[in-house]
Amino acid sequence: MSFTLALVGRPNVGKSTLFNRLVGKRLALVDDQPGVTRDLREGAARLGDLRFTVIDTAGLEEVTDDSLQGRMRRLTERAVDMADICVFMIDARVGITPVDELFAEILRKRSAHVILVANKAEGRAGEEGALEAYALGLGDPIRVSAEHGEGMNELYAVLQPIA
Ligand code: GDP
Ligand code: MG
Repeated sequence: MSFTLALVGRPNVGKSTLFNRLVGKRLALVDDQPGVTRDLREGAARLGDLRFTVIDTAGLEEVTDDSLQGRMRRLTERAVDMADICVFMIDARVGITPVDELFAEILRKRSAHVILVANKAEGRAGEEGALEAYALGLGDPIRVSAEHGEGMNELYAVLQPIA
């Protein structure tokens, strides 16, 4: 069965890095797709024997302070509504910020399946930040390093039974 996975989280946690790792070179040209703006990038992803569509909530980078909450919320809600499963990413090196809490609130209200991912956890980095993430009430965080490809087996293991 095929499914759609949305990568959600505040700017700079590593969503696009994970997107690129899952998609490789199989990036869809979203400009050619009706109804999909450049704020949401879509790609054909592969993880082990799983094949799925992945959505990157890009465009959050340009959000200015005064419009931060509204625009982030709208973009995130659109991605969540398109998706069967959401990967909610936090930065394990930074720990939980108030903006992360905001995202968690959106997801708790909106998404059936949330996988909590603590990124930038290569080596022993980010153990403390990952522990903090338990407080979000979204289950056990999976420690990964999108940049170094660590934790992909663990991500597969939680996706596989849902998919
Ligand atoms: P996005 O804004 O959520 O899409 O985040 P990006 O994918 O653009 O990444 C933001 C920054 O974090 C970049 O400088 C990445 O190189 C860095 N980054 C992403 N993943 C990792 C990781 O696993 N470990 C470390 N140390 N840095 C990472
Ligand atoms: Mg990005």
